[in-house]
Amino acid sequence: MASSRPKTILIVEDEPEIAQLVKLYLEKDGFRTSMAETGLTAQKMVATEHPDLMVLDLMLPEMDGLELCKVLRNKPETALLPIIMLTAKNEESDTIVGLELGADDYVTKPFSPKALVARVKALFRRLERTTDQSPTALTYGSLHMDLTKHEVRVKGKEVSLTAKEFGLLEHLLRNPGRVLTRDMLLNSVWGYNYYGTTRTVDVHVRRLKLKVPLLSESIISIKSLGYKLSDHL
Ligand code: CA
Repeated sequence: MASSRPKTILIVEDEPEIAQLVKLYLEKDGFRTSMAETGLTAQKMVATEHPDLMVLDLMLPEMDGLELCKVLRNKPETALLPIIMLTAKNEESDTIVGLELGADDYVTKPFSPKALVARVKALFRRLERTTDQSPTALTYGSLHMDLTKHEVRVKGKEVSLTAKEFGLLEHLLRNPGRVLTRDMLLNSVWGYNYYGTTRTVDVHVRRLKLKVPLLSESIISIKSLGYKLSDHL
């Protein structure tokens, strides 16, 4: 990690065993942690302790994880706080809402603490990579995307894409490792005023994979949620 200051992670979880386990593994990896058992406490701690990332359980007393996520995203000073949600398998619709509300990633319970730590590190790496918000080119293995020339090349050979395919690819390349729901993709690529269905996204992803075979394995379909561009090539 570039900075020498240990990163602080706020663990928001009302089940003490899970919270302790997460704390133990994160601290073993050099992170500093603080803990909150309710959404309200967490909200106050965010304001006073300025954590670098939040691990947020969905099911919480007083204010649940979704509500807290929404509150934080709506305030400029916490809008960019990285959030990893902890969700249960039967909370799939909540997971979708959480991602729409701006959670950066999610881990499904029961989870291995090591896997969660890996996600935390991956998210920090991703954030460090994307601090440059306006690159002029994006690369993914042998794929090179020139945003000023509006050109895509694989191993130097130009691939012809439609405007929407180009937009979709750009959005995926800007968010490697992040689950993007069909609605998020529709909004970012087609715009909020587009009245198409989420199937439009599936059709374009399929075409993109056909035109760029390099992506056929790398664009992963996440069951009932959306898509993710694998961050390991
Ligand atoms: Ca809980």
